[in-house]
This record gives sequence, C-alpha cells and structure tokens, in this order.
Amino acid sequence: MIELCQATKRYGPKEALHAVDLRIPEGCVLGLLGVNGAGKTTALNLMTGYFPPTSGSVRVDGMDMLTQPRACKRRIGYLPEQPPLYDEMSVAGFLTFVSRLREVKDRDIPGHVKDICGLCGLEEVAGRPVGKLSKGYRQRVGIASALCGDPPTLILDEPTVGLDPRQVVEIRSLIRTLGETHTVVFSSHLLPEVQQLCTRVAILHQGRLVREGSLEELQGGSRRLRLEALGAPEKLLPALRGLPGVQRVLPQETGEAGVTAVLLECEEKAEISEALFRLLCALDAPIRLLAPERDSLEEIFLRLTAGKEAP
Ligand code: ATP
Repeated sequence: MIELCQATKRYGPKEALHAVDLRIPEGCVLGLLGVNGAGKTTALNLMTGYFPPTSGSVRVDGMDMLTQPRACKRRIGYLPEQPPLYDEMSVAGFLTFVSRLREVKDRDIPGHVKDICGLCGLEEVAGRPVGKLSKGYRQRVGIASALCGDPPTLILDEPTVGLDPRQVVEIRSLIRTLGETHTVVFSSHLLPEVQQLCTRVAILHQGRLVREGSLEELQGGSRRLRLEALGAPEKLLPALRGLPGVQRVLPQETGEAGVTAVLLECEEKAEISEALFRLLCALDAPIRLLAPERDSLEEIFLRLTAGKEAP
C-alpha cells in the first residue's frame, strides 16, 4: 500500500501539491486524473521516491520513503512519461541491465527477462535494438523495465499518450492484465480510459486532491431517475411536476408518439418510487422504463475541476 500523508511539494515559490492525503490500497488499479499542471506527475514522483515532499511523508507498505528508500523503491516499478531507454541495446539486453540494477540474482535474470518479455508481448523483438522499435513497442519495453525485479506496485505516467489507436488498445489490454497481479497507479487525461481500466479514481485540481474513491463512490447515490411511460406528455408532465420530492422534470426526446420520457431530478434521499407508481396507475400510464441515471466520470470531473479555486 502506498500512502501520501499531508504531502506538499513546492518548486521554489510554486506549490505544485498541497497537503495531499491519499491511500492506495493493495490490488487496486487507481487512475490519477487532472488537467495539465494539476500535479499528477509531481504526485507520482513522490510515490516513487524520485524526490521527497517539501513537507508531509510518503509510506510504502508502512515504511517511510525517506528513512527506508531502498526497501520502498524495491516495491515500486515506474514508467515515467518519457521512459529512459538505451536505443543501442537490444530489448533483452536492456531488460537484463535493468534487472541487474534492480538486484535480481544473476542466475535468475535470463528466466526473469524471458517471463517479462512474454507478459509484455516482446518475444518477437527481444533481439532487436530498442532504437529500431515503434512507439508502441518502446512503450512496452518501458513497462517491461518497470516490471524488472518483480515489484508488486506499478506506477505509470500517461502510459498511452502519443500512441496510435491500435497501440492504445494494446497497452490498455496490457495494463488490464498487469492489474490482475499488481497494484497499478496511472495518470491519464482520458476519462473513458480511466473508466474502463480503474477500480479507483483520484482527481487532482490545482495541487489538491478533490476526490478519491471507487467509481461507484464517486458517482454517489443517484438523485436522477430516467422514466419512460405510455401516455401523452401534456397529461403526464404537469402531474409529475406536482409529485412530492421531485425538484425538476426534464423532458427527453423519444421519437415515438404517445410515449413520455423524462429525467426526474429528486430531492436528496427522496423516496418517490411508490408515489410515482400510484400516480402513473391513476393516469393509466404504464411504466416502460424506470432507472437511476448516474453522472458519467466526465461530468464528475468537469464539475470538480470547473472553478479557478480547488473546492
Ligand atoms: P501534465 O498533465 O501537463 O503533465 P501534471 O498534472 O503532471 O501536468 P505537474 O507536472 O506535476 O502537473 O506540475 C504541477 C505544477 O508544478 C505545474 O504548474 C508545473 O508547471 C509546476 N512544475 C512542475 N515541475 C516543476 C519544476 N521542476 N519547477 C517549477 N515548477 C514545476
């Protein structure tokens, strides 16, 4: 588990992170979201021990990054935004070199590199110089180097940025596979990517953590219901507007005559289903659909990062 405790980072007068408290439980895939300059790379650099916080602390599995840096770093594999690759080395040679740096025993290195190449789909290019590979393969080599030494946690800074659509799909699939056996933290601008891959989401805005939790927690208890009922809007809309607990009735397009579709915005904790059912029975308007309408991650993100000041 990685913990940032009241972690603040200043670059001279610029405060890039302010008193961030973040606990990343073992086994989760956490997406770190934020607009440009929100502090994502800074947060990842703190987690990897690349630099220390100006104040606060970073803990890995209960150990302090400042006092036990080697033990902490051994538990983390890092893919920076621009992975440091040696172009003239072969893929296998490079992974052998990184494995040695990561203190894998010499006799275990060939098997270790073979396993990592298998996991990352690099067998076919293992003998090729890194400099001759496509961007997608180079990214795989970067991820493979993060896996050297078998760290249980992987930290990936914008792993799909700059890749073509096919490579994006392949790297996402690799991250999904790695997430089955590792704790994964990655930063991204792409909300659908985070929604697809992550079990938890943390949103940074102007250096502050404005929200963290599972997708369900972020989406919260829905206060909006989508309703479709058989009956003319002129008859149903006024009746729905008068229903206790309903704040707003937003008509929706159906393209079908004789069907009313609406979004009902309800008061917090209002229980309207029984009254709604009775009302529609009285109006002889059978319900065709009644379902909670959840905010998308995009809506949540835009709401939390809308203001100039972090909420
Ligand atoms: P991006 O999505 O553009 O990579 P980010 O969310 O990763 O952005 P950071 O790179 O962590 O954000 O930067 C946070 C803030 O700190 C930004 O305002 C940035 O300009 C500033 N910053 C980052 N590194 C330094 C530095 N070495 N010196 C001064 N300011 C810095």
